[in-house]
This record gives sequence, C-alpha cells and structure tokens, in this order.
Amino acid sequence: MKPMTLCSSLLAVAGLSFAATAQAADAPNLSNSEFQQCLNTLKNSAQFRGISDSTFERYRPSAPDPSVIQSLNYQPEFQKDVWDYLSSLVDKERVEDGIRAKQQWSGVLRQINSRYGVKPEHVLGVWGVESNFGQTLGKKPLFESLATLSCFDRRQSYFRGEFANALKIVQNGDINASDMTGSWAGAFGQTQFMPSTFLELAVDFDGDGRRDLVNSVPDALASTANFLAKRGYKSGEPWGYEVKLPSGYWAASNRKDKKSMSHWRDQGLTLANGSPLPYDLSSAGLLLPAGKDGPAFLVGKNFDTFYSYNASESYALAIAHLSDLITREDSSKTDFITAWPTDDPGISRQESKDIQQALLNAGYDIGAVDGIIGDNTRNAIKDYQSSHGIFPADGRAGKKFYNQIVGQNKPVASTTNDRIGQLIQQQSPKANPTQSYPSTTYPSRSQITTQPAAKVGNVRYRREAGTDGVVRLVRVDEGQ
Ligand code: CA
Repeated sequence: MKPMTLCSSLLAVAGLSFAATAQAADAPNLSNSEFQQCLNTLKNSAQFRGISDSTFERYRPSAPDPSVIQSLNYQPEFQKDVWDYLSSLVDKERVEDGIRAKQQWSGVLRQINSRYGVKPEHVLGVWGVESNFGQTLGKKPLFESLATLSCFDRRQSYFRGEFANALKIVQNGDINASDMTGSWAGAFGQTQFMPSTFLELAVDFDGDGRRDLVNSVPDALASTANFLAKRGYKSGEPWGYEVKLPSGYWAASNRKDKKSMSHWRDQGLTLANGSPLPYDLSSAGLLLPAGKDGPAFLVGKNFDTFYSYNASESYALAIAHLSDLITREDSSKTDFITAWPTDDPGISRQESKDIQQALLNAGYDIGAVDGIIGDNTRNAIKDYQSSHGIFPADGRAGKKFYNQIVGQNKPVASTTNDRIGQLIQQQSPKANPTQSYPSTTYPSRSQITTQPAAKVGNVRYRREAGTDGVVRLVRVDEGQ
C-alpha cells in the first residue's frame, strides 16, 4: 500500500469537483520518443513484474497526454472559501439525487450494512460527493494519463506503481479496458479509487466474480463501505454533530484532539439547536472550519474515515452533511444551523450554471455551462465586475454576484415547482447597479414570445423575448 499522505493528497487534487478548473499555463511539449523509451524501460522493470508482455503492449499508449502534466502542476489562482466549497457540493439537487438513490438501492444498502456495519447514508454521502451518484466518473483514458505521469515531471515513482496496478486490474478481468477512464491522476469508477486502493479494497458484491466499480452499483457501494470499515469505522456511531459553543468559549479547531462527550458537556457545549449533547460518540474532536464565529462541529472516528478518503476536512464535512440531509430526507434547507461568517454566502451548482449562462449572454467565452467555477469563469466574473463598477472585483461567484448578474436576466426560478405566473421574478433595482427596471416594465407571461430551446452543456435554455425587446434566457429543466 502507498503511504496514505501521498495517496491521499493525490486523491484530493484529483477530486472531480476540481477537475475542470485545471486550465492553467500552456500544456508542455512532451517528446514521444522519450516517452516510448521510458515505457520500454518500465515494461522490464521490477514494478511491472506480473504484467504480461501482451497486456502491456495492448494498452501501451501511442503518445503521451500533456494535459495531465498541466493538471499536475496546476496552481489555483483563487482559494475557495469553505462555504463556497460546501454549497457547491451539498445543494438541493444532490440531496434529492441522494434521497432517490437511497430508495432505489435500499435492499443492497441493507445487505451492505449487515456485512460491513456502515450506515447506508454514510455510503451514499461518499458516493454523492465522489461521483455524483455514479453520474460523473471522469473521462480521461487511464493508461494514457498514468503512463504520461510515470515518465514525466514529479512523482513518477508513485504513478509507475499506479500504472502497473491499472494494468493488473484489466489483466485480472475485473474491469473492461474501455471502462478505464477517470480523473487526470487516475482515480476512476463510481468510488473514484486509485488503482492501488482498488486492488486493496474493492469487493465483488453482486457475485458475478468481477469487482466492477464502473458498472456495478452494488460493487461500488460495498467497496466504499469496505474502505470505511478498513479505515476504522465504528458501527452504530454518528459521524458527529453540529454544535453550539457557550458564549465567550474559545478553543482551537483540532479534530484529532479527541475527548469524551462528558468533557464537552462539562465545557458547556450543546447541539446547535440547544439540546444536550448525546452520548453516542465514543470520543470527539472540535472542528471549526471557519473559526469560532462560524458553524462548529464535534466529530468522531467515522468523520476521520471520511477524511481518509480524500485528506481534506472540508471534503469530509461535505460527506457528513450530505449524509445527514439524506438521512432526514429533507432537501429544503441545506445550510447549517449556524450561518457561515459572511454576508455573501455560496451558491448551488444550478446557480453557478445560471451565472455562467449570464456571462455567455454578456459575450464572455467561458466554455461549457457545467456549474463548475473554474479559472475561465472566475476571470470572466472579474472582468464583468471591473467593467460594471462592482467592488470588489474579486472574481468570486457568490450570492451577491448571482443577484447582480442573473437577477434581471432570469425570469424563471430554478425549482420545478414554480408556477408559470411566477415566471417573471421581480428583482430589487439595487440588485444590479448598471441596469434597473421599474417593476411595471416587466412583461407578463402572455406578452412573452417563446423561441426553441438552445442546448448549452447539459442544460437547456429557452430564449424568451419580451414585448420590451429584452431577450431573457429561461432554463428548461434537464431531461425535458
Ligand atoms: Ca461484481
């Protein structure tokens, strides 16, 4: 097994939520003859013992993929605030997908719970954050990515091991070679395991003799449960709680400094809603992701098993929070009880898509409308802010900017329950400093002429021209 720190930090960089943000400097020029020589050397090295010559040659890439080296060296220009990170990962859409998945896979989840002792919603939380319940697996051909990373730039030794492991997986017949696609760093399948993690922890749960984490949901969910169980999951324990600190209390955020629940009760901590702390955690540490003025949490051993999946506290908190909302089967409120210490909260993926669409409309070439705020979108926001006198021009996609740019362009709210009569959403004129319409100039529904829908990325928009001559984009719900 690889050292956890290295493996985990790579997984963290490889996380799909950040995949589309890797658009930094130009891709490097990589010599193919150097690449092929390197592959010849690898083939005969000790690390590749056990891989047959025919397997190696069959999946040997004909050329390197420079984009993965670009991703390896990508330095984000913007640091995401924890509330932006959480609100893009745990939104209404994902909670609803999770509730549906829980119903659809209830039988399998029950069997997994009785074999591995892991709560169904904890498995679902990981599945939802890792691959959006199997919807986002990553499209990079694994052999090309891993072979390139094995021969160029940093961490070649680590990636050589992963390249060899990926070849072992297809040689064993667990996964079809055509299904071996994933993140640039080689995390793949519904669980986004690295190949070494696959070989260590993947299980065949549907009994067909193959551990297929790409096509078999039972295999993927059981492998996730097996991962958590092997990392120290405590059956029957919650991950932790959102809590309230007594006024004037101060302590450092230190998840690892675990104390008994009596200790925390004695300190005056309660649940966030004011109820006394329960005693169902064997021990817990205090987590303050945004300091003492933001939401506070007591987290137990099971939180640490989420953490071991991707070595990031925000990531583990996203899994924890998503699992709670799926347990409650309530998507109406995805915030914590205590607000984040900001007057400009984060936005959902749908709101991100709406911002991207509004930027496209305003003439910014931001690429696909995918709900992922990467460098292109950030730079376009910054430019839009500067040219519209919006201060600060920080490139951040938050609630305030959403109201500024989407406000008057968005005559339909994004929930499916809206009535047609609510199509024209009145915005405060202050919401946009450059344009304000008195409410009386809004066209009524009957005055609006409808044009065919245009497809942008995965979201369809319909152009609607009002009698005032202003063309507005109306989101057509996906799948329609
Ligand atoms: Ca199987």
